[in-house]
Amino acid sequence: MTNKLILITAPSGAGKTTITRFLLARFPEQLAFSVSAATRSARENEQDGVDYHFISADSFRELIAKDAFLEWEMVYEGKYYGTLRSEIRKIWDKDMAPLLDIDVKGAMHVKQQFPESSLSIFIQPPSIEELSRRLRQRGTESEESIRARIDKSTFELSFRDNFDRVIINNELEKACREAAEMVEDFLKQ
Ligand code: 5GP
Repeated sequence: MTNKLILITAPSGAGKTTITRFLLARFPEQLAFSVSAATRSARENEQDGVDYHFISADSFRELIAKDAFLEWEMVYEGKYYGTLRSEIRKIWDKDMAPLLDIDVKGAMHVKQQFPESSLSIFIQPPSIEELSRRLRQRGTESEESIRARIDKSTFELSFRDNFDRVIINNELEKACREAAEMVEDFLKQ
């Protein structure tokens, strides 16, 4: 397989994590999750090195200076997230395609660097009201953080036309199936 990349992006709460997990389980030999570096603290169910490489803001800045990132963004106020070049290289070396769960800006940056060899999928939530309901139901964020995420989502929705494919996530199972078909086609090319 030539070095390919798959980018999954969506406003937070649009079901991206579920779809990402579904794709990894569906294509275990072809896809590997690209573990990003992040400066936020780990949530209760998260593991360092599995969900993210949780690092300090100082270490993150050192990595920026060393040009270690393919892309990085301050996704939320004061919180950095970035895709390590070493992570992508490691996955390509296994002859697999990295699957990136990434914010909208980051996805557009990666797409620019790999216009032909990447597939970018935008997951669209049914509505902002539904998105806000899902975020509250998840129960992992404070009210302030939920507000910030909703504002960001409204902004991010305006970029959907920059992506190769859009999936409207009305029904999660259907969205997973659609994503799997897109990925299968892309991997065959
Ligand atoms: P969370 O804090 O909920 O895990 O993630 C917040 C957002 O950061 C999500 O939209 C996620 O896709 C995005 N994100 C995760 N890793 C990266 C990364 O390496 N680069 C960028 N630009 N965004 C990322």
